[in-house]
Amino acid sequence: MNLLHVCCAPDLVSTVVKREELRQSELFFYNPNIFPGEEFLRRYDALRKVCEKTALDLPEQNHSPEDFSDILDSFGTENEGGTRCTKCIELRLRKTACLAKSIGSSSFSTTLLASPRKSIAQITLIGDKLAAEFDIEFISGNFRAERDKLRDLLKGVYRQNYCGCLPSKNEAIRNREINDLRDRERLDKDFKRFVDLWNFRGNVIPRSRIHLEEISDLKRIIAIVKPSALFDDIRDAELEDRRWLKTGSYNCRIIREKE
Ligand code: SF4
Repeated sequence: MNLLHVCCAPDLVSTVVKREELRQSELFFYNPNIFPGEEFLRRYDALRKVCEKTALDLPEQNHSPEDFSDILDSFGTENEGGTRCTKCIELRLRKTACLAKSIGSSSFSTTLLASPRKSIAQITLIGDKLAAEFDIEFISGNFRAERDKLRDLLKGVYRQNYCGCLPSKNEAIRNREINDLRDRERLDKDFKRFVDLWNFRGNVIPRSRIHLEEISDLKRIIAIVKPSALFDDIRDAELEDRRWLKTGSYNCRIIREKE
């Protein structure tokens, strides 16, 4: 039996969609990095929902932020992607490898391998090191499934917008503020007539609200506003058969039914 470390609900869904055989795993939700406690509960609740949808056994809820405090104290000022993240991933995988060994699992793995923000090579390096140390197999690979295949399973499921720890939360807030300011200024400058479209940032925007004919202009404004989806309520011939509007810097989903 494989012991599968679960970092979050969306990555679990991606993992079992991409690697069907991992559905047979026992799940282990160990993420002492998640801050604050309410966020941990939201992510656990999201996990409960996807376990129901996918008929997987819900792992125990067990939050132990004290396990992460040394890492936070030593590397809390680093940017995401540095030593803090290496230590954080190793902490979670070490606990998984240790538990896998003690319960007689033949292997261990992690849904972190489905995260588009994580390096598969780095996770594999850590996993292989622990595999040698604990004399147990580490299952690696690319667990990132196509987003279209996940949509139904993730409908109504909370998706976090930062990695997990306090510094990553602060960094995400800072980046969002910088991006909002930059895009708002571009909208004012390039599309003064359309400043009200800013209200659709992060929300579904109907095609009929964007009074622009040229597809190139449509792409430019979508890249600035960044809606969650473009609702093609006018059956624009330029959008026919497309599922995505690729702008170069931002890919926007095209929907034909109101969600
Ligand atoms: S950014 Fe993510 S991986 Fe890095 S330390 Fe924080 S929670 Fe862990």
